[in-house]
Amino acid sequence: MHREVLSNFGYPNAPSFGCGLRPGSRASVSLTTGIVYLMYHELDLPGWQPCKAFVRHHRYTVAQSDFRRQILGLKDRNWRGMSVSEALADSKPALPGVAITLDDGSETDLIGAAPVLKESSCNATFYVVVGWLGRPGFLSSAQVRELGDLGFEIGCHSMTHACLSELGPAELHVEMTDAKAKLEDILGRRVDHFSAPGGFWNRRLAQMAMDAGYRSAATSRPGVNLRSADPLSLARVVVMRDTSPHDFERICMGKHLLVRKTREAALRVPKRLLGYSRYVKFQSLFSLDVTSDKQSCHCGAVVTSGSERQWTDHTSQRQKALIIEYNGRDGGSAYEVMVAESLAGTFHLSRHELDFKRWGSLKYVAAPLEFVGLRRIMTTCRDHSVAIKTFSAALLNPRRQPPNIVILHHVGASPNLLYSALEAYILHQIRKANAVVVVSEYWKRYLSQRGLTNVYTIHNAFKAQEFSLTTQEIDDFRRQYDLLGKPIIYVGKYGPDKGVEETFEALKDLDVHFVASGRRRGGGRMKCYLLGRRDYLRLLAGSKLAITMSQFAEGWCRTAHEAMLCGTPVVGSGQGGMSELLESGGQIICRDFASLRGSVEALLANEERRAELGRKGREFARQFTFERFQAEWIDLVSRVRTAHSEGLHCA
Ligand SMILES: [Zn+2]
Repeated sequence: MHREVLSNFGYPNAPSFGCGLRPGSRASVSLTTGIVYLMYHELDLPGWQPCKAFVRHHRYTVAQSDFRRQILGLKDRNWRGMSVSEALADSKPALPGVAITLDDGSETDLIGAAPVLKESSCNATFYVVVGWLGRPGFLSSAQVRELGDLGFEIGCHSMTHACLSELGPAELHVEMTDAKAKLEDILGRRVDHFSAPGGFWNRRLAQMAMDAGYRSAATSRPGVNLRSADPLSLARVVVMRDTSPHDFERICMGKHLLVRKTREAALRVPKRLLGYSRYVKFQSLFSLDVTSDKQSCHCGAVVTSGSERQWTDHTSQRQKALIIEYNGRDGGSAYEVMVAESLAGTFHLSRHELDFKRWGSLKYVAAPLEFVGLRRIMTTCRDHSVAIKTFSAALLNPRRQPPNIVILHHVGASPNLLYSALEAYILHQIRKANAVVVVSEYWKRYLSQRGLTNVYTIHNAFKAQEFSLTTQEIDDFRRQYDLLGKPIIYVGKYGPDKGVEETFEALKDLDVHFVASGRRRGGGRMKCYLLGRRDYLRLLAGSKLAITMSQFAEGWCRTAHEAMLCGTPVVGSGQGGMSELLESGGQIICRDFASLRGSVEALLANEERRAELGRKGREFARQFTFERFQAEWIDLVSRVRTAHSEGLHCA
């Protein structure tokens, strides 16, 4: 009897399992092309006190006896239970299988799940919340090591289980990069896989996960992962307390997921509009029974009164500031990262991001929704000391909002159509801001000429320690990317109006490696790599010279500045704020492509001159320290607040 129960996923009367999976059978067609990733949380063990941190947790805890039936049921039919690494590597499966994942790092991972998995020779990936290790009910560092030593895979589930889509870049760094490093320290081995707390995930976060060095990221979006699926946005299907044996079987088969998908998609709208914390609050207002609410954000189900209390305590001691960012990824966002970082010690920061791209083809339909959400946030955060906005956010100026600072990198002839079309309107709107921050004197002049009086220049900042690269590192990079034998010329970040193609056209006869960074289709002699941060710096440092021939008025030119910090000479168009950087930093300005070849050839032939430019550039570029930037920002914010409370414009 026992055996029969197992062979039917604990569902003795399953009518041929309804979906073609018989004991020992191969998977259905869909599963030869895709894999389902199961998502579990804490298990419910007899006499076990569930983790206190979880308020809405009950429906996500599966009884250990059910877990055992499910996992042994897999085994019984020759299905494999895999870790994420195994599932990702499994391109031509001999046997059907599922990936097994457990989120949060509860102690029951080790004492409840691991023995069952071992018994059935299944592997699994345990995603742990690094900051929770050692708390009551959660694994200790020694226990995570033990789990790893048993052969299971350990992944990272962030540092604090925060809702990542609401965090600023500095906080995200902690949640992804620092958490990874800390976990690797504990385990003494690499951590390659991440799972998103609360299932909040978007393309920006996926990019950050990649930059942090993760190979995969798992979400709570239900679905089957096809072999071609993006490893940085893996679908998972949650197994819950009330998942019946029949449902479990269908989940493993990747069947009947449409209802789950639809529900998840429908709930994404209010979650996005309200923001996660508001969403949870809103839900708890209307949820009469916390243990049976319709909450779908799985792990997010956890957000606890505990952390909310912490948040309140926190903010009562510190002033609140809001940063609203348009995620155009046009080079501006690195600046906003530093603004957030420099204010983080003084203010409690919250952050809202406008990102139309994440809506894909629906972006034009979604734009009004984004703005409605933004407007709500601006009007509901009136108790904040200050709101710092990038240009898109400046389009909206509700009458009642906190004193605000607008960051403007560049206006007018830019790669961004929206920007150009709305310039007059933007100027009109930013006139109303309490202060406008630009990143070079060029743009201060530009705005002053148009009658703005509240403009401040706060230049970009860079962390010098990032730029000390060893020769070994650079050599490794060149070997890895097959860039040996000839000098490298870095021709800039690929993008509209960045002048990369024209630069290549002008120089293509030279016997060098032409390398651009960024995304570009097609091959050819000019190589273009989408590089992580460290490799990008290795490329800059390994280049004989860097060329930045942007054809629009730049705010500054971070690329040129970074090359200078690496001691690499720069030839640039000097458009917009870039001229201030290149002139003051003693680099070469080349206004047109016709004279580019001459400048470059002369420089390639003259090692002494290159060394001199490298030295001068580095010396100048080093003055733009984080400390200076931070002091300037804190000063400006306090001036804006004082002026606002006295009813004045900050001037
Ligand atoms: Zn979680």
